[in-house]
Amino acid sequence: MKLILLGAPGAGKGTVAKLLTQLDGSVQISTGDILRGAVQAGSELGKQAEAFMKAGDLVPDELIMGIMEQRLQEPDCAKGFLLDGFPRTIPQAEALKELLKNIGVDLDFAVEIDVPREVILDRLTTRRTCVDCGAIYNVKSMPTKVEGVCDKCGGSVVQRDDETEAAISNRLDVYNDKTAPLVDFYKNENMLLTVSATASDVVVNAIQERLGG
Ligand code: AMP
Repeated sequence: MKLILLGAPGAGKGTVAKLLTQLDGSVQISTGDILRGAVQAGSELGKQAEAFMKAGDLVPDELIMGIMEQRLQEPDCAKGFLLDGFPRTIPQAEALKELLKNIGVDLDFAVEIDVPREVILDRLTTRRTCVDCGAIYNVKSMPTKVEGVCDKCGGSVVQRDDETEAAISNRLDVYNDKTAPLVDFYKNENMLLTVSATASDVVVNAIQERLGG
């Protein structure tokens, strides 16, 4: 399957993507994970992205398109991909359309995961992430077995720098200003599936149904 996952930070894009990868071997491509990896590695890309990310602002479109042009042409994408956190602006969506046309790839559709703002705020303030493998936990609903230690890889599980209250509030404003318009963009392309649900398995079922299986 070749899907775009849209939705505010904390809507569950990453969790839904991980569940979908288990169905048919499609790969999850999270621009947020790629950028966090670059920051941790101290690469040139990481240096350019770090301040934007910490403030909860978007990284410039050119940097993101540079990453995605390369990533979407890697061999593992042939089986299918789940775009998690990309595109996030209209220029990114337009550039993606052009890129896919050039490399001869058809998207299935874009999924909007629609979750109430109060649920999002609660999830983001209680979310914890493994710095090594990116696994996601929640101090209330899915804590690690040992506090601060990833169940899967033993890495450190921390609150992300951009999950302070100020950065969260900015990320939600940025989502409303820059990313929410993509819902209409994909509606106009007849490529939008909206699922209003907080449970990831409900979202996955709706996607499978639309895919015809
Ligand atoms: P995420 O993990 O998807 O919430 O992304 C974390 C941060 O990475 C965002 O707040 C942005 O600073 C940056 N980022 C991730 N994806 C994009 C994108 N497609 N365009 C611009 N910035 C992005």
